Amino acid sequence: MVLMNDIENSDPEIAQALKDELKRQEEGLEMIPSENNVSHATLQAMGSVLTNKYSEGYPRKRYYGGQEFADKIEEIAIDRAKKVFNVVHANVQPYSGSPANFAVLNALLEPGDCHMGLKLTDGGHLTHGWKVSATAKYFKSVPYSVKKDGRVDLEEVRRLAIENKPKAIWVGYTAYPRKFEFKEFAEIADEVGAYLIADIAHISGLVAGGAHESPVPYVHVITTTTHKTIRGPRGGMIMVTQKGIDKDPDLASKIDKSIFPGLQGGPHDHTTAGIAVALGEAMKPEFKDYAKQIVANAKSLAESLKKEGMKLVTDGTDTHLLLIDLTENGAGKGQYMQQALDLAGITVNKNTIPFEPFSAFYPSGIRLGTPSLTTRGMKEKDMEKVAKWIAAVYDEIRTYDMPNDKDERKEAIKKFSSEIKENTNLRKIREEVREFAKEFPLYPGFEIMR
Ligand SMILES: *Cc1c(COP(=O)(O)O)cnc(C)c1O
Repeated sequence: MVLMNDIENSDPEIAQALKDELKRQEEGLEMIPSENNVSHATLQAMGSVLTNKYSEGYPRKRYYGGQEFADKIEEIAIDRAKKVFNVVHANVQPYSGSPANFAVLNALLEPGDCHMGLKLTDGGHLTHGWKVSATAKYFKSVPYSVKKDGRVDLEEVRRLAIENKPKAIWVGYTAYPRKFEFKEFAEIADEVGAYLIADIAHISGLVAGGAHESPVPYVHVITTTTHKTIRGPRGGMIMVTQKGIDKDPDLASKIDKSIFPGLQGGPHDHTTAGIAVALGEAMKPEFKDYAKQIVANAKSLAESLKKEGMKLVTDGTDTHLLLIDLTENGAGKGQYMQQALDLAGITVNKNTIPFEPFSAFYPSGIRLGTPSLTTRGMKEKDMEKVAKWIAAVYDEIRTYDMPNDKDERKEAIKKFSSEIKENTNLRKIREEVREFAKEFPLYPGFEIMR
């Protein structure tokens, strides 16, 4: 990659920040489960001249000239999406996962119509009708929840569906360590005549690689991001299944019209090219190994964390994602853990746990996952080391309390922040993590950037 030397000449300030970010990514362990590391090829597609092009409309039906190559690229991306996910229709233009989800609601519902999704604080996504989202402002939203054991309460889903007769039901989550219950949801959605939408943003790479069941036989519409486990550029896709077409022959065109001209203007053609490249990679046999290894690593990490005495929501994982429950010594410690892990070079995010005992902003859990570490080539035995570091970091923070009182809390966080920065055990872990991470170089060809 030689892209950086031009930025270096023309804009040293941005070049330096980019180099620093590369270093941060390479010398740390990226364990936010929605993140991943794209290939050189995908990066090059993203950095291509396609960002210069306007292509409002769809292939062969555009509003501007000069489309022969943009058309070709979008057609290839669509074709690959259909093959990878085994669907009859794909729209690769959504700017990201959230706009894709809004576009589906815009296509299927009238303002005020009802849809149902998992509560944000139980692991659902904002765009499935959480109260601060436009998906709750323009549509009626009825949230369902998880049970004490952390699994979706399917009886509640059924009861609420019968009561509210939603037009659409979401199955698919953002902080849920277990298999998504496509079949069980299909029974409920079919019973009440609702569209069933699978949001596989988190697990699309697992679905593509055969490491999670496909929603295709069960749902009408599928949405996904393209930048999580599927390992492409930041973007979104909407797909329609045969079951969807059988329910509504106009479904594909409703979806397309909802994206353009309903919600978006010109598609991001450079992203489309990146999506095509990433989907091409997902069609190779190695991608199956990758998807299986993501799950194997997550399971190994879960077992090792438990051996270290840590508590997991649902006691483990079926996917790429784990939720650590930090309530053993008091609630609200997610923030402390996230901060301390950051100092140790392990990036995660604080997250609510089911029946969150503290608050959404000061939650009691940590969400983490293995897609990025697996891309870097780490295996099960490496996860044992990572688990030991995570447990060691927890030891450094477990005695800090998160007070309920606002002023006391401010003081406590201040005290924690200044003390944790000086913590010598954490510094030692940081050095070990750095050395370990360097054994798994992220972009070995990027010498020019350093
Ligand atoms: C990440 C995610 C999205 C939204 O994706 P953005 O690209 O951040 O807008 C939607 N749904 C689920 C379940 C997600 O996890």
